[in-house]
Amino acid sequence: MSVKLSRRDFIKSGVGLSASAMLAGGTNFLDAGQVGRRMVVISSSNGLKATEKAMELLNQGSDALDAVIAGVNIVEDDPNDHSVGYGGLPNEEGVVELDASVMHGPTHNAGAVASLRKIKNPSKVARLVMERTAHVLLVGKGALKFAKAHGFKEENLLTDKAREIWLRRKEQLSDSDFWYPPKSETLSSELCSYVSSYGTINCCALDVNGNLSGVTTTSGYFYKIPGRVGDSPIIGAGLYVDNDIGAAGSTGLGEANLLTCASFMVVEFMRRGNSPEEACLKALERIGQKAKLWPGRSDENGFPRFGLNFYAINKKGEYGAACMWKGAHFAVHDGKENKLMDSAYLFKRK
Ligand code: ASP
Repeated sequence: MSVKLSRRDFIKSGVGLSASAMLAGGTNFLDAGQVGRRMVVISSSNGLKATEKAMELLNQGSDALDAVIAGVNIVEDDPNDHSVGYGGLPNEEGVVELDASVMHGPTHNAGAVASLRKIKNPSKVARLVMERTAHVLLVGKGALKFAKAHGFKEENLLTDKAREIWLRRKEQLSDSDFWYPPKSETLSSELCSYVSSYGTINCCALDVNGNLSGVTTTSGYFYKIPGRVGDSPIIGAGLYVDNDIGAAGSTGLGEANLLTCASFMVVEFMRRGNSPEEACLKALERIGQKAKLWPGRSDENGFPRFGLNFYAINKKGEYGAACMWKGAHFAVHDGKENKLMDSAYLFKRK
C-alpha cells in the first residue's frame, strides 16, 4: 500500500498532535455569537438529518439524550441507509442483527442492546435498558423479549434491496458450493458498492443546560458471523460520556475499538486538556501502534488496514472528529449551521 505519512510529523512533534491537527485545519470552536447558547450536535457523516433534528429539539429545550435519540431514529427508520436499523445489511445467514448504546451525562448512566433482531429502533430499547432495568447491556433473545415486554413490535428488517446485496455476496463467496455466481449484468454498480460495506451512526450533543449525552446504533458488519457484537453497544468503546468533560463515539472497525476502549480514551484525553480533535487523533495514534500486533489488520509496513472514526464534543461546546485514513467526514450542527466537515486524519494514502 502506498502511503504518504502525516505520521512522521506526528511523531516528531513529541506529543504527536500539532502536526496532524494542522494538516486537517485545527480545532473547531464555537464563535463568540454562540457562547452562552453553546449547543452542539455531532454525528458520523450519515447523520446530517440526525444533527438537524437533534438541534431542532435542543432549541426547544430538550435534554441532549432525547435529542440525539430522536435524531438517530430517522436513520434507523430509513430503508436506504444500509448500516443502521431497518434496511441494515444482515449477517451471513441473512438476518439483520442490531447493536446500540445510549449514555446520559447528567446521571452517568447507560443502556445497550446487542444482536437484537426484528426491532428497528435498538436505540430506543437501549434507553429503556438504562431507565427501566438495573442492567446496562441486554443481548439476543433476552433483548428481544425485553423490547416486546415494552410493547415494541417485531418486524422484518430485511428489505428487498438488503436481501439482494446479501444474496450477491453469498453467490460470489465460493466456486466450490452449489450457488452459481451472480449474473453480473443484473447487478447495478450501487449494489456492487455495498458488497463489503459497513457503517453505523454515532450522535452526541451538548444541550442548553450544558449537559452531554450520546448514542451509537448500527447493524454492524455486513455478513458478520451470527452473534458477533461490535463496539457500538459497548460503553467505553463505541460511546462514552463524562458530563464533566465531554462525549465521544465511534464508527469503523469495531474490533479495533473493542481492543482499546477508545471512546473512553478520547474522553480521557479531553480531561487532560486536549481539544476534541486532538483527543480523537491521540486515540487513533494509540490504536495505530497496537494495530501492528494484529495479524491481518496491518500491512507489511505496520500501517493499519482498517478505517476508524471518532467524533467528540467537550463541555465547552468545542467539537472535532478524526479518522485513521484521510477522506472521512462528519456532520455537525453548531447552533447556526448544519454541515458536513472533513475529519482530521492520522494517515493519508498517496
Ligand atoms: N463499528 C461498527 C461495528 O463494528 C461498524 C461500523 O461502524 O462501520 O459494528
